[in-house]
Amino acid sequence: MRIDLRSDTVTRPTAEIMDAMSSAKVGDDVFGEDPTINELQEFAAEMFGMEAALFCSSGTQTNQIAINVHVTPGGEVICHEESHIYKYEGGGIAKNSGASVRLLQGDRGRLSVDQISKWINPREDVHFPLTQLVSLEDTANRGGGAIYDFEEIKRISTFCKENGLPLHLDGARLMNALVETGIDPKKYAAEFDSISLCLSKGLGAPVGSVLIGTKDFITRSRRVRKVFGGGMRQAGIIAAGGLFALKNNVDRLKVDHDHAKQIESTLKELNWVKEVVPVQTNIVVAHVVESGKRDQIISALKEMDIHIMAFGEGMLRMVTHLDVSSEMIDALCDALRKLKV
Ligand SMILES: *Cc1c(COP(=O)(O)O)cnc(C)c1O
Repeated sequence: MRIDLRSDTVTRPTAEIMDAMSSAKVGDDVFGEDPTINELQEFAAEMFGMEAALFCSSGTQTNQIAINVHVTPGGEVICHEESHIYKYEGGGIAKNSGASVRLLQGDRGRLSVDQISKWINPREDVHFPLTQLVSLEDTANRGGGAIYDFEEIKRISTFCKENGLPLHLDGARLMNALVETGIDPKKYAAEFDSISLCLSKGLGAPVGSVLIGTKDFITRSRRVRKVFGGGMRQAGIIAAGGLFALKNNVDRLKVDHDHAKQIESTLKELNWVKEVVPVQTNIVVAHVVESGKRDQIISALKEMDIHIMAFGEGMLRMVTHLDVSSEMIDALCDALRKLKV
């Protein structure tokens, strides 16, 4: 039994998703004529109470398009130093948009309004780059799946509005946060100018992300998507998987969170584990007592066909998802207890 906890991106399409994909009605989406893509975009926009949405090939693409629409060359983006948009998108902020970044530190990948407010550059002073965008990540991947406090998001949003700054959300795992907190997606989305949502992580679609925002923002994003080479034709085939995932696989994320908590409590019993970052959603991050043994642990598990990932010095990451059953979690916990470290 192969157990793959490296990432929630490894899910394979289920028979139901394959059915939805193979029977999808398609058209040329660059002409706006793909009925399945149009349905997905309308469904996503309606779900978040926003005006419009755009289906894209990846979460990197949705983030990079959003940044490109929000900023001008030479402008500055405020984000966490470990945010995906900065750390894992190949330098795209600089390369695609010619913008600089103001990187902030913050508790488990999250920022506070106090920090952000200190780093807005004075507009009247020509020395400084113009601060043009604030970007948050919820849940925060490097923060071990940490969820933002919604009250803090509201404070950040109010501050951004008062200062004429757009607020973007990298919501790759937003549904994990919303399922856990029970906050209404429409209420949550009202605090942001744009949201990127991954369909290909825990939701289980094989490909795709959606970018959500105002009509005007999405019209401009559609142009940037074309420029970035992301205008796809009969892509309703893949959008059908995303639509199915968004309609059917949201509530079950709770199961992934329960599984992650089960892994957390097992790890806490083990003497080779120094600390487990408190689990809030589907990501488990553990610090190993002897940090040099990290790779040995990963290899030993691999021998048992259990796959996990290194996550920085002396750290291990395990991510639960649609393709990880309760039986697999039991087998993993058993293997972890028996591991000789
Ligand atoms: C996965 C992920 C993305 C998007 O990644 P793609 O592989 O490009 O779809 C963006 N932000 C975060 C936090 C992620 O975890």
